[in-house]
This record gives sequence, C-alpha cells and structure tokens, in this order.
Amino acid sequence: MGTEHAVIVGASHAAAQLGASLRQGGWQGRISIVGDEAIPPYHRPPLSKDYLAGQKHSDELLIRPAAFYEKSEIDLVLGSRVTAVDREQKCIVLHDGGNIPYSKLALTTGATVRKLTLPGHELDGVFYLRDLRDVDRIRGYTGPGKSAVIVGGGYIGLETAASMRKLGMNVTVLEALPRVLQRVTAPEVSAFYSRVHREEGVTIITDAAVESLQGSSGVTAVKLADGTELDADLVVIGVGVLPATELAEAAGLAVDNGIVVDEFARTSDPDIVAAGDCTNHHNPIYDRHLRLESVQNATDQAKTAANTLCGKLEAYHALPWFWSDQYDLKLQIAGLSQGFDRVVLRGATDSGRSFSAFYFSGDRLLAVDAINRPKEFMMVRRALSTGLSADAEKLADETVDIQQAFS
Ligand SMILES: Cc1cc2nc3c(=O)[nH]c(=O)nc-3n(C[C@H](O)[C@H](O)[C@H](O)COP(=O)(O)OP(=O)(O)OC[C@H]3O[C@@H](n4cnc5c(N)ncnc54)[C@H](O)[C@@H]3O)c2cc1C
Repeated sequence: MGTEHAVIVGASHAAAQLGASLRQGGWQGRISIVGDEAIPPYHRPPLSKDYLAGQKHSDELLIRPAAFYEKSEIDLVLGSRVTAVDREQKCIVLHDGGNIPYSKLALTTGATVRKLTLPGHELDGVFYLRDLRDVDRIRGYTGPGKSAVIVGGGYIGLETAASMRKLGMNVTVLEALPRVLQRVTAPEVSAFYSRVHREEGVTIITDAAVESLQGSSGVTAVKLADGTELDADLVVIGVGVLPATELAEAAGLAVDNGIVVDEFARTSDPDIVAAGDCTNHHNPIYDRHLRLESVQNATDQAKTAANTLCGKLEAYHALPWFWSDQYDLKLQIAGLSQGFDRVVLRGATDSGRSFSAFYFSGDRLLAVDAINRPKEFMMVRRALSTGLSADAEKLADETVDIQQAFS
C-alpha cells in the first residue's frame, strides 16, 4: 500500500463509485470514505418508492455489500461529520475534533433539503425526505386510513404520494405553482400525472398557498391561505434541495450554485475533486453550466473524478438521464428539456398510461420523457449521445417505427 491517502467526504452514490473507481484505476494508496450517516452507501431513490411503501428492506438498499469495501481496502468511517477542510495542513477535521490527513481529497457531500419555516413547522409529524432516517421516522406515522399532506408536487412529492396510497392512506398533494412538475416537464406531462394520481385517489391542489401547520404537539391539520383546512396525521415537505457546499465555501473553494468543477471534476484546488449533487459543471452537450440531482450524474462524474486522481484526465461528457417510479408508471428521462419551444407527443396523454413527450428547440431534439416506453427512452439516449437528428413528424406518428425517426 502506497503512502498516499485519498479521502472522500460524504458516503453515498458518488462516494461509493469514486472509491471503487479509484481502485479500478490503480490507486495504490489508502482510501477512506467519511460520511455522517451510520450505514454504508445506499441507494437513495427507493426511499420515496419501494422502501417507503414497505416493499424493500434496508439491507436491500446497499449500493455494495460491506464486504466489498473490506476486500477493496477502502476504509469506511461512518457516523462522522466533517466540520472543516484544512487545505494548508491537508487534513479534514471531524466533529469530535479528530483529523484525517489527505494527499488527495474528494468532496461528495450531495444536497440537503430546502426547509420551509412555516408556522408550525416544528410540530411532531412534519418531515422532510432525504435519508434513511427520515423514512424510518415517517414510517412510524403511516398506516391504512391515516391522512398525509404532501407539500410539493415535484418528483419526490408525487412518488411519496404514490407510495402512501399503496399503504392505504388518504393523500393530498399541495403544489404552489399552477401545475405539478411545472419546473421539469411540459404541461401535457403534468396533466397526465395529475390525472393518474387523481385516478389513484390522491387529491391534488395546485396554486396552493400553505399558511400554517396546526396542532398542539403533533401536527393535526394544514391550513391554506384561502381558509381550507386539511386533516393531517403527517406532513411531508418536498420542495427541493440545496447543494451541500458549506465545507467547500469555508475552505475558500470556488462555489457558485454548487462546488465549481472543471470537465475533469477538479475544484479550484488541484488536490481536491468533487462529484455529484454538490457540484456545478459545464455540460458540453447543452453548452451550459449545470447542477444535476441524479444518480447518473453522481456515478458518472465520480468516475471522472477518480480518473483524475489516478492521473488519467478524461473529460466528463455524459448525457443526463433520470427516472421516476409512481404506481405502474416508469418514467425515464433522457436529456434536459429546459429551453424547449415545442413538445411532440407519441401516444395519448389523456387516456392510458404509456406515451412519450419529445422536447425540441427549433429542429433540435433536447430530451424525452418516456412513460412506460423503455425503447423510446433508449433510442433518444443513443441519438442524443451520438448526435443523430430526429424527425418530429415521424416521432408523432405511432404507425412509423421509432427507429425511422432518427437519422
Ligand atoms: C427520496 C429520493 C428519491 C430520489 N429518486 C431518484 C431517482 O428516481 N432517480 C435519480 O436519478 N435520482 C433520484 N434521487 C436523487 C439521487 O438520490 C441523488 O442525485 C444522489 O443521491 C446524489 O448522490 P451524491 O453522492 O452526490 O449525494 P447524496 O446522496 O446527497 O449524499 C451525500 C452524503 O454526504 C453526507 N455528507 C454531507 N456533508 C457531510 C459532511 N460534512 N460530513 C460527512 N458527511 C457529509 C450526507 O449525509 C450524505 O450521506 C432521489 C433522491 C431522493 C432523496
């Protein structure tokens, strides 16, 4: 074992990949992953899906079995919060005052939930949903016939609603904007999700202004500005996340809506890389600076960061993709739709549960939302990665084989 020490801060998707890729890439020295959660890196997406619905055990969430880290000689330092990065001494400082020296450092601190300071936000039964502990606490309040109010009609809010319906609960989703998923999808896709959730028994209230959460010790109701009162045994707030950049900022690294990294995942300090939800990087496909919140980005950027630490500079050049599971709907998204001026639909949105929405800017295909259409997702993923162009008319015509729409 060489004398060099790669220290990874944060122990989740990006960290697990970075550690594994360092070993694969030939890193000879020590590797430590330091995270403040108590268990080895686990899959976060099932938290609002199968795990919340009671269809998965926590053991099934691990990204890699604990034995993998042992075999790969990766030290897991769990339950340890890092409070500072001392770039002069080249060490990280832990919450208990101890420190760990590094030769190379990777920041994979992810994101933290955006909090709402509504009157009543401190009541028992009011939750955010980001980590395993959150869901374990939430599950103490769920059960058939109980009422849940979910604040936020984004992916996490809607997935939580679907899982709670599976548990036989009364569910209301409150969305402040005129439609659910407004920031990320076309109106047709929002309307589709609203319809399906209503068919599944969820009450969706858009343009909802939450005034207060009510109750004496535990939450009992949510009051809206128009006077509506909704019974609530629990409230889950899902109104987005913020990049966890405090350590980087305090250490004087460049931060701008995420830790700024170059195409090799390098921060403004040559000995420090960063990957995942905490970063802001330039995407060459869309020629835009992005802060992504996805497993794909955490994993792929971590590979780039590991290569960089192993002395192999390979630019990060990945097409963003994402998924969301709600009921029997498997949504797969390839590309980024922001900036679209036209949506082409293949299949019906006002009936059934399968269609694709293709997003265009002029003639340029930007992205697809494919619902229960894995083939169309794969086709677009390939086309966007290889620079193929798409024929909107053929995409809209279900009698034309999807392959013929790309050239
Ligand atoms: C409920 C839920 C559902 C999701 N569903 C999907 C999905 O379907 N598809 C998809 O692509 N993405 C999904 N995501 C997003 C995806 O999980 C994230 O993009 C991914 O987890 C990012 O990984 P990461 O390693 O960058 O950061 P994170 O997973 O946020 O992990 C960062 C880790 O670092 C730790 N940490 C932070 N600061 C410190 C510190 N100072 N000291 C020690 N430890 C620290 C944190 O506690 C955390 O464990 C979902 C997220 C959630 C919460």
